[in-house]
Amino acid sequence: MPRRRFPSPVIKRPILPDMGCLVRRLKTLMLALLLLGGSGAGTLAASPVLEGHLEQGGLVFGKTAPGTKISLDGIAVPVGADGSFLLGFDRDHGPHANLSSVTPDGHAQTETLAIALRDWQIQRVEGVPPKYVTPPADELARIQREVALKKAARPFATKTEYYESGFIWPATGRISGVFGSQRFYNGEPRKPHYGVDVAAPAGTPVVAPADGVVTLARPDMYFEGGLIFIDHGQGLISVMMHLSKVEVKAGQKVQKGEKIGAVGATGRATGPHLHWGMWWRDAHLDPALLVPPMPGK
Ligand SMILES: [Zn+2]
Repeated sequence: MPRRRFPSPVIKRPILPDMGCLVRRLKTLMLALLLLGGSGAGTLAASPVLEGHLEQGGLVFGKTAPGTKISLDGIAVPVGADGSFLLGFDRDHGPHANLSSVTPDGHAQTETLAIALRDWQIQRVEGVPPKYVTPPADELARIQREVALKKAARPFATKTEYYESGFIWPATGRISGVFGSQRFYNGEPRKPHYGVDVAAPAGTPVVAPADGVVTLARPDMYFEGGLIFIDHGQGLISVMMHLSKVEVKAGQKVQKGEKIGAVGATGRATGPHLHWGMWWRDAHLDPALLVPPMPGK
């Protein structure tokens, strides 16, 4: 077995916000691996380079030789023309994941990745208007329509690696809710909290956390209020909720730092804040793992 020439993939350090730098490093590493492969180390180029968070809610940036096919837990993963790809691990992912790769010349290998398990907080949210805890029957048709809208806006079609711009906080303020908490609304258990909440006065600007394409922009969804989806490429999507203003349109390209709306308390919110969630395929990810600590905190 060839020895890996780069740090173990079981790494838990924050991703550098300068993704350009990371990408350059990965390119250098890949070049080194390819050179090693040429000098007799054979299959080294088949081991993808991984950088990021191998933990529940974590995102990993991968790099492999162009043309290599990658799959995670048996499902094919999109790979860019330059060999870059993403792996995301759901809040409830188990302790192991299987990463398989097949090079263009047919060399196949599978490795088991250890996924760190996390502890989740319990968060009790009181004072939620009852219609948001148990929606009245006459709102169910609307809620169903909105579920279909959200589904249609997630085709994972964007192949461009917009996420290589790196990530910043889309709004700054006190972190009032963390990813993964088990939530109780007025004492009733509901889905975990799939995002990070930033409390800020209504009207505070919200910017795009990274480059991407807007795939959904709605001013008034039942639960989410003002809602924006941004597709960062290869199945990675940001979700912004409870906005008082939505200033972009579906199909629009946005750049990291560009204003897209404003903080509000629309939908199921007990006060003005931004909810920032992320998906990779069907995995719910923790956005806070992708950005530096909140400025000023
Ligand atoms: Zn939230």
